[in-house]
Amino acid sequence: MNSLLPVSTVGSLPKPSWLAEPGSLWSPWKLEGDALVEGKQDALRITVQEQRRLGLDIISDGEQSRQHFVTTFIEHLAGVDFEDRETVRIRDRYDASVPTVVGAVSREKPVFVDDAAFLRQQTDQPIKWALPGPMTMIDTLSDRHYKSREKLAWEFATILNQEAKELEAAGVDIIQFDEPAFNVFHDEVQDWGVATLERAAEGLRVETAVHICYGYGIKANNDWKATLGPEWRQYEKSFPLLQQSSLDIVSLECHHSHVPVDLIELIRGKKVMLGAIDVASDTVETPEEVADTLRNALRFVDADKLLPSTNCGMAPMSRGVAVAKMAALTTGAGLVREELGVRG
Ligand SMILES: [Zn+2]
Repeated sequence: MNSLLPVSTVGSLPKPSWLAEPGSLWSPWKLEGDALVEGKQDALRITVQEQRRLGLDIISDGEQSRQHFVTTFIEHLAGVDFEDRETVRIRDRYDASVPTVVGAVSREKPVFVDDAAFLRQQTDQPIKWALPGPMTMIDTLSDRHYKSREKLAWEFATILNQEAKELEAAGVDIIQFDEPAFNVFHDEVQDWGVATLERAAEGLRVETAVHICYGYGIKANNDWKATLGPEWRQYEKSFPLLQQSSLDIVSLECHHSHVPVDLIELIRGKKVMLGAIDVASDTVETPEEVADTLRNALRFVDADKLLPSTNCGMAPMSRGVAVAKMAALTTGAGLVREELGVRG
C-alpha cells in the first residue's frame, strides 16, 4: 500500500462473461437465484484479487454485483416502480428505459451494505464504494410523483445519507458519489446540486468523493464530446462550488480529454482523483504516458493530495484491456513516486 499517489479506479470494471453479457451497459444477468448471488460474490473475489495483484492501493468492488451504477440503487427503493419503465433522455444525450417514481421514495432496507461487508472481508487495504449522486439519480428515471427535480433530489440525498452511514459502519473507507450530471446541468449544480450532495455526505467520518466525468466510452457520449469544442471547460462551473464544499476528494477526467489541466487549481485544497486512463479507447496507455499526465497535474495539486485513477468506469471494456490499463496506471504512478523520492 502506497501512502503517496495511492492508485484506484473510478469504480466499475468488466464482469466475467459467465455472469453478464460483456461489452454493454445494463447487461442482463446470465444466472438466477442462489447461483446469481454466488456468481456475483465470485466475480467480486476475482476483481479484488486482480486489483491487488496489479498493485492498486484502494480497492473497489468493480460494481460486480450491480447491473448499472444508477438504476440498481433506484430499483431497491420504495416508491419506484421498475416494471413501469419509461424511455427518457439521459443527460440531454441518449434515450434509455428507466424506472418510474410513482409515490414517496424511501429506503426500506439497505441496498449495498451486504456487498460492501463482503468486500471488506476480502482485503485489509482501504476500500472505496461508489453511490450515484442525487442529481444523476433524478436524471436517470421518470418521475410522476414529485414533478420537481429539486424536491426529488433532496429526498434521494436523505436516502443516500442513510445508505452511506451504513456503508461506513460496514468498514468502507471512502464513499464516492458519481455525479456526471454536474457536467451538464450547471444552473442546477449551483442552485441545489452541491447542496444535495453535501446532504448525502452529511455526518460521515470517512472520506467522501465526488466523481464528475464525460461518461463511459459509449457512442452517445463520444458523439456528445465531439460537440464540446477544443477546450472542455465544464468543470469551471462546478469546481469553485466544490472547493467550498464539505466533500474531501474530487474525481475528474484528464488523460486524452480536452479538459485544460489548470482547472485543477480551482479545487486547491481538495484531494484530486485524477483520470490518467482513457476509458473511451482500447489503446492501452504506456506507463510513461500515465506518468506524464500525473506530472502535468502536479503543477496544480500537491503530491500528497493526488490520487491516480481512471477517467471513468471501465464496465463496457474487455477484461483484458481493463487489466492492461490498470497495470499501466500502477506502473506509471510508481515512476512518479520514484521521482518524488518515495519507495512503495
Ligand atoms: Zn464517470
